[in-house]
Amino acid sequence: MQVQIMGKCKICGSPGFTYVPEYKGYLCKEHYSRFIQAKVDRCVKRHGLLRGVKRLLVGVSGGKDSVSLLHILSHLYGGRIEIKALFINLGIPVYSAESMQAAAKAATLAGVDIDVVDIKEEYGFTIRDAAELFLERKISRPPCSVCGTVKRYILNKYAVEKGFDAVATGHNLDDFTRFSAVNIVTGMVKDLVKQVPREDSIHPKMATRIKPLCLVSNEETRKYVLANDLPVVESSCPYKPPPRKLSSLIAGKIDEIEGEIPGFKAMFIGNLWSKILPMLNTPREQLRECELCGMPSSGKVCSFCRLRETITKAMSKERFL
Ligand code: SF4
Ligand code: ZN
Ligand code: ZN
Repeated sequence: MQVQIMGKCKICGSPGFTYVPEYKGYLCKEHYSRFIQAKVDRCVKRHGLLRGVKRLLVGVSGGKDSVSLLHILSHLYGGRIEIKALFINLGIPVYSAESMQAAAKAATLAGVDIDVVDIKEEYGFTIRDAAELFLERKISRPPCSVCGTVKRYILNKYAVEKGFDAVATGHNLDDFTRFSAVNIVTGMVKDLVKQVPREDSIHPKMATRIKPLCLVSNEETRKYVLANDLPVVESSCPYKPPPRKLSSLIAGKIDEIEGEIPGFKAMFIGNLWSKILPMLNTPREQLRECELCGMPSSGKVCSFCRLRETITKAMSKERFL
């Protein structure tokens, strides 16, 4: 049996929890947590993520990233700004109930109030309904695409209606590098320009969006959860598709390079923000109000209302068959 020898914490000398390349040595749980919190704080300050933000809504899914995000933000800024968590009950069998438990426990631990929006109650359908309709070829959008639209819409609507200045989500460094590289390769400039730490509101009914974990990796949030014994959902979503070939190949190569050149991911994303995106000069979308719900939309009817209409029609046809 192989026994892993842990060194002592470089800062306080107590038993090490994990090796941290930036310190060229081990840190204990407490100093590891402080190291990650300091990284987030630097990012928040450098990119002005909380500029003008007095009330912040945090989207919490019960996964490791959003649970870490809530813990870190409440630790760093809980006394200075109002922070509230929002969980969206997507109606995914087993997974949604377990996620809600984890999110509620995480909020209690962080000392933050949490609210729940149930999509079945509010809008009459669940992601399970959408997944079944997709399997039966009655709608063309796969569950994750439906889910993404639903989550973005609800987070924004809730924030605007309840007077929050910004919405924070748990996208991490690996999400940023993977999405950005795929967007560059496929020429999706419209999506590439959204890979930024802060997207300012451009419409009175659109909340500013911030991503404070943008320089914290997957591995780092996984360890942060362990170091702080945070509650996270154990099961995975049954609708999660296998990763797309291009995306997983690119992510694998980026990981390989990071292994050879530590700091590569942060360098890639930092150069994208400071040197590449400012050169693109892409005009931001012109938004008006959706004719059905009044929320911001690029067309007459917003993507959420179009989606809802398609799903509702397909469900009612099913009932009459
Ligand atoms: Fe939604 Fe897809 Fe994530 Fe499941 S895997 S929660 S359907 S985005
Ligand atoms: Zn220590
Ligand atoms: Zn609408």
